[in-house]
Order: sequence, then structure tokens, then C-alpha cells
Amino acid sequence: MVKPSEPEFEQAYNELVSTLKDSTLFQKHPKYQKVIDVVSVPERIVQFRVAWENDKGEIQINNGFRVQFNSALGPYKGGLRLHPSVNLSILKFLGFEQIFKNALTGLNIGGGKGGSDFDPKGKSDNEIRRFCYAFMKELAVGGFLGENRDVPAGDIGTGAREVGFLFGAYKSYTKSWEGVLTGKGLTWGGSLIRPEATGYGLVYYTEQQIKYATKGKEDFTGKRVAISGSGNVAQYAALKVIELGGTVVSLSDSKGAIISETGITKEHIFSIQEAKIKFKSLKDIINEYSAFSSSPVKYIDGARPWIHVGQVDVALPSATQNEISGEEAKALVAAGVKYVAEGSNMGSTQEAIDVFEGERVATKSASSPAVWYGPGKASNAGGVLVSALEMAQNSQRLTWTTEQVDDELKKRMIELFNQSIKFATEYSNETNKESLPSLVKGANLAGFVKVADAMFDHGDVY
Ligand code: NDP
Repeated sequence: MVKPSEPEFEQAYNELVSTLKDSTLFQKHPKYQKVIDVVSVPERIVQFRVAWENDKGEIQINNGFRVQFNSALGPYKGGLRLHPSVNLSILKFLGFEQIFKNALTGLNIGGGKGGSDFDPKGKSDNEIRRFCYAFMKELAVGGFLGENRDVPAGDIGTGAREVGFLFGAYKSYTKSWEGVLTGKGLTWGGSLIRPEATGYGLVYYTEQQIKYATKGKEDFTGKRVAISGSGNVAQYAALKVIELGGTVVSLSDSKGAIISETGITKEHIFSIQEAKIKFKSLKDIINEYSAFSSSPVKYIDGARPWIHVGQVDVALPSATQNEISGEEAKALVAAGVKYVAEGSNMGSTQEAIDVFEGERVATKSASSPAVWYGPGKASNAGGVLVSALEMAQNSQRLTWTTEQVDDELKKRMIELFNQSIKFATEYSNETNKESLPSLVKGANLAGFVKVADAMFDHGDVY
């Protein structure tokens, strides 16, 4: 059940339930109402102490969590977040979103999420390794994970290095080599395109928005694109936008934003990739790396990019939750934004979604859309999608080629987009027939109905 002390979870729950109620689903099929009370309670939450030793030999204590939310469609699947802000409300919101996102991929994966309030920033590699071994010990020895039980992956603060340490820990505690984590290294069970998957998938999804809305007349060519974040998702989204002929006008981190009228370059992004592994801030990166001295950008301390980007066509929030406020959404609309798609989970506040959806509903003609909002649940599903393909490759003991994985990612992002359109149209109660279908309603309806049907079949709901 939703408790008022869990604001992020409450927000995610209300977003899902309000969109389902604001459709004809319950009118047409009243049985689905019963599912909400069941699906909104995690099947299991594992919470534990993580005691690890710092380089001075002192004991350090963090909280560890794994929320095993729903296994109707397959083993629990969802990332591990390592960030000081991590608490149960945030992990329940992320796990809840993950259930329906994973359903949308069309692959057999349930929903989960986990992590710790451990802050990797400022820690040595040895400290990170000792933390990862201590964290994994609780989950592995407790028997909570397994290739058919629960398969975690990366998220904020958990990249290739951390996945490597976590995998090594699992293997040593269980004496078993199995595909129990995704985002693994390429030589030991990882999939090509997994690092790129969320960012690329986000851009493939947005490309569908542009093509659908313009009846195939436009794509990314010439579009001005504002991106936030400068981590895994933002980096690969930016590289794909540049490849497709768009101009990336912003990136950001937790300290500030960089803006470029003429476009952030691939060389800028390669420097950021190299520096972010060492936890450097954008402020330091632009002073230290030659790519920025030969092609300078503007730095704004302590700011998110949205009100500073000037005229834009596309916005791709890709840092963290609630990173576009209602006011910032209005500023983006005033700046001409037509397409918003979230790389981050719950990147927009409810007020921002209301601004974007309000613009969509007010559209006068389908051929000149106002703003079309794509929720993270659908638009950032590329990461988990390729994670599921990594699981398939591990089961087969095979490695697919870059082209195979990228083609599958693209094909499935298009299918997922089309599913959202289909469900939004089928269960629409909207009166303005000129406006584009609601992608947030469509994603919630398609994901929810698939999970609910499996829960009925299993006798979880009756
Ligand atoms: P990374 O840790 O690689 O990067 C996160 C970026 O966001 C960094 O630039 C970081 O800044 C910034 N950031 C983190 N917290 C805050 C904050 N509170 N305020 C402002 N900026 C912040 O994470 P990912 O790129 O993997 O994840 C980004 C988002 O995408 C998250 O919402 C995640 O849940 C979502 N996502 C990720 C997937 C994946 O495959 N990785 C899959 C689907 C969704 P700094 O460098 O200063 O720390």
C-alpha cells in the first residue's frame, strides 16, 4: 500500500493509477481495478546492513536494499543504485516503474530495484570493491539472486566497474558462474551495445515520436536537442543524436550545466566519458580537457539546463528523478520544445507532465503537434531490453554481433512505441480527436494490462 511517508513511490503510484482511471479501461473491464491493490505491494523487500572497511581500516556502515516487486512475467529485473539519497521510497518508485517498463519490452522479465545509500564519489577502487563484496554477500548468501530468480543491473553510481566487483563477489560466495547480473564485461558474458542501450533506445523512441507526428516528413536532422545529465544515459543519447544529424545544446551534472549554441561535440563527450569514471565534475572537466579549450562551452554553476537552452525542438532529461519542474516545463514550451522523452526514471514532476499533456490535448491539428511527452517507463526501456538480450545470450552461451543487438533494440523500441499508441487509442476517453495519443496513458495501459493478465492466470488476483 502507499504510505504518505514514501513521496517518490506515492508519485509513481498516483501517476499510474490516475492515467488508468482517466481512460475507458475500468469501464470496459472492471476486473482490472482489483489488480491495483495487489500489484502496488512488493512481493518481497530485503533490507540489510552493509559493513565494509575503508582504506584507513575503519568500519563503515551503509543500508542495503533489494525490492523484489513483481515476478508475474519473469525473474525480477532492475538496477542497483548507489547514491547517498537512496531510501526505500525511491527504490519502491523505481521498482514499481520497472514492472510496467519490463512488460512493455515484450520480454519475460519481472520488476525489481535495489541499491544502497553508499556514495562511490571520493572512494578508492579498493573501497568500492570492498563495499561491493559486502553488499553482494547479503544477497548471494541469502539466496535472493539467480539467473531465474533475480538479475540486477547498473543504475546511478553502478557502472561497469561496480558490476564487475558485484559479479566477482557473487561467483565467489556461491561457487556458481551464471548470468546473475547484466552490464557485464564483454569478455565475461556481457552483451555488445549494453552500455549504449538506454541512450540509443531513448533516441530511437524519440525518432518514432518525430516521424509519427510529422507523418514521416521529419527526423533528427537539424533538431536542437537539450539533454541533462552527463552519465551513461546522457552520453550515449548525445552521441546518437549527433550521429543522426541533431545538435546537442546542453548536458549537466549534479553541480551545474554546460550549454553550447553551436553544439556539444563528440570530442567533448569522449572527454566527459573518460573523466566521469574518475568522478570529475563538468566544471573541472571543461578546464582540464583540451576538447573544451579548442571548442569552448558555457558553464552555469548550480543550474539545470532547461531555462538556459534557448530555442529547442527536443528535451531528453537523463540525470535523475523530478529534474523538470512545472516552471521549467513551461520554459521549455516557450522555447519551442515539441518532443520530450525521459532517459531518467520519472524525470518530470507531475506538474511538468501536466504542462506537457495540457499542451498535447490543446493541439489544434495533428499535423502541427504542440508538445508530445514520452514517459521514461517507455522511452528509457532500451537498457533493460538489452539486459534481457544479455540474459538470452548467457542462456545460449553465445555472443550476438553489434548489428544483431542494435537491430533488435531498435525493432523492439519501435514495437513498444506502437503498443503505447495502440492502447492509448483503444482506451481513449479524450474528446479532441485532432490531438496525438497520450504516450503516458498508452505506456501505463499496455504495461499494466500485460502484468495484470499474467497475475490473473497465476491466481495472484481473482
Ligand atoms: P550515471 O550515474 O551514469 O549518471 C547520472 C548523471 O546524473 C550524472 O551526470 C550525475 O551527476 C547526474 N545526477 C545524479 N543525481 C543527480 C541529482 N540528484 N541532481 C542532478 N544531477 C544528478 O547514471 P545513469 O546515466 O545510468 O542514469 C541516469 C538516469 O537514467 C537515472 O534516472 C536512471 O535511473 C535512468 N536509467 C538508467 C538506465 C541505465 O541503463 N543506466 C536504464 C534506465 C533508466 P554527477 O556526475 O555529478 O554525479
